This record gives sequence, structure tokens and C-alpha cells, in this order.
Amino acid sequence: EKFKEGLTKTRDSFASKMNDLVAKYRSVDEEFFEELEEVLISADVGVQTVMDLMEELEMEVKRRNIKDTALVTEVISEKLVEIYYGQDNEEIEKLNIQEDGLSVVLFVGVNGVGKTTTIGKLAHRLKEEGKTVMLAAGDTFRAGAIEQLEVWGERVGVEVIKHSEGSDPAAVMYDAVQAAKSRGVDVLLCDTAGRLQNKVNLMNELTKVKRVITREVPDAPHEVLLVLDATTGQNAMSQAKTFSQATDVTGIVLSKLDGTAKGGIVLAIRNELSIPVKYVGLGEKVTDLQPFDAHAFVYGLFS
Ligand code: GDP
Repeated sequence: EKFKEGLTKTRDSFASKMNDLVAKYRSVDEEFFEELEEVLISADVGVQTVMDLMEELEMEVKRRNIKDTALVTEVISEKLVEIYYGQDNEEIEKLNIQEDGLSVVLFVGVNGVGKTTTIGKLAHRLKEEGKTVMLAAGDTFRAGAIEQLEVWGERVGVEVIKHSEGSDPAAVMYDAVQAAKSRGVDVLLCDTAGRLQNKVNLMNELTKVKRVITREVPDAPHEVLLVLDATTGQNAMSQAKTFSQATDVTGIVLSKLDGTAKGGIVLAIRNELSIPVKYVGLGEKVTDLQPFDAHAFVYGLFS
């Protein structure tokens, strides 16, 4: 399906490297493990995650007395899923949306990562699920950001609350929350400015925006979603660190997973930052946003 299709690049690259490796080393030995480590690192699984995995893997291979390298790949999938979920939880991470009343979702991330596109795609998904949705054009800084959000609003048929370029984002949020409340909207999706300034400015800006929202809706924002571009690899990791220091990030949307052969970054983010990946972007169309399913992802890499 869509999920598999979007992962073609990662799967093709990973599966062919794994096949080569299994063909080269028929039986398990030290050199096999070393080369396996390199294959995993080249898929952007992340050094720490690879080290955790290798430790688990070598123990399991010894325990089950596995000699055949082809069988090791099965253990890799098991262990990768375990690392992702922490042993037993195999649920797809759901968006924290209220049954009743307004839910507010704040989007953060640097320019160009796919924030606007993701908001549009998520608005479409939520509408399909029967929710009423409204958008807040909180990126008043980047030229064209408001218009771009309006284009998405028209495309998916949802209202966009905006002020003019250069105005105070907190004022936009205030108006958007008021509008959403008075129209009985279920979910308000809020864009924010994506210039990566210094950490203190970023923190102040996000704190101010959040304060306005919380004042109007006490347990909001219900989600703070950080959008990261999968094609930027370790850069995405460092952005995740910066943003999670600046604010409480509740989930990640990894965009452009279709555009990279290094999809292993999903696992690195989960393992090294302990932030769940809630959605992945698999293309530019309105339907190209999918909930992230680690089980399907990991097993999809090998088939
Ligand atoms: P923003 O600056 O963060 O709001 O980024 P945009 O939403 O404008 O996206 C930047 C570019 O990435 C646009 O050309 C999008 O069409 C493209 N894009 C966003 N998400 C995806 C995705 O999941 N896959 C692909 N292939 N392209 C994407």
C-alpha cells in the first residue's frame, strides 16, 4: 500500500545491501557483524541505536545459537521493533485529540522541512475522519507563508485565520482560538515561524504563542508536533534536539521519507530522543501523510 510504496528507496537500498552481506558471509562471524554495523549506519539508523542493536543482536544470536546469516536478519527486525517500542508496546502512536471540545495542535520546525504541506495533509486526514478543522497562519515572518497555507486551506476546504505579514503571531493565535471556539471547530492546526534563530529567541517565541493558547483553552496545546525532513539525516537529529530543548515536543512528523534511501532516521529519533514519530510524509499529494507504524516499517525493509 501507500506506506510500502513511499519506502521504496529505503527498502531497495537496505534490502540489496543486506542480500549482498548474507551472500558474502554465509555463516555468522565477527567480520559479518562489523559489516552489518556499517550497513545499518549507512541507512542513518544512528550510531547509538546501531550500538544498542548490535549488543542485543549478538546476545540473541549466541543464545539461540544462530549460525546462518540469513536467519540473523529476522532477529534484526525483531530487535529493531523492540528498540522502537521498548519491548511490549506495539500501538501506533495516536494523535492526542479530544473527544469533545477544541483540540489545538501546534506545528514547529525550520523553513522548508514541509511544515505547511504537513498541516494541509493532516487537515485533509482529520476531515476524512469526520472532524471539523481550522488553520491558523502563525508564520507571519516568512514571505509567502500565509498565502501558501491559504492555498492548502482552499484545497482541502478548511478555513484559515490570518493576519498580515509581519504581525504578531500570538495575536493570530488568539484570534484563531476565538474563531475556532465560536464556530465549534474540533481541531485547530497552528503554523509557527520556522526561522532557526538562537535557542533563546526560539524558546521565547514558542512560549509566548503557547501561553496565549493555554489561556484560552486550559489543556492546550494538545500536541506540539515537530516536522523534520527525512532527507536531511543527522541534521534532522540536531534540529530535534534544539526544538525539544526549546519546548515540549509531543511528537514528530517525518516528512519526505519517500525521498530518501536513509529512512533509518526514524528509528534513531525514537531511540535517541524518546519522541514518538506520529506521522510520516510519503509524497506531496494531499493523501500522502500516514500514521507511522514501526512494525510495518521495519518488516517492510526486508521484504
Ligand atoms: P515549510 O517551509 O516547512 O512550510 O515547507 P513546505 O511545506 O513548503 O515544503 C517544502 C517542499 O517540500 C515543498 O516543495 C513540498 O511539496 C515538499 N514536501 C513536503 N512534504 C513532502 C513529502 O512528504 N514528500 C515529498 N516528496 N515532498 C514533500
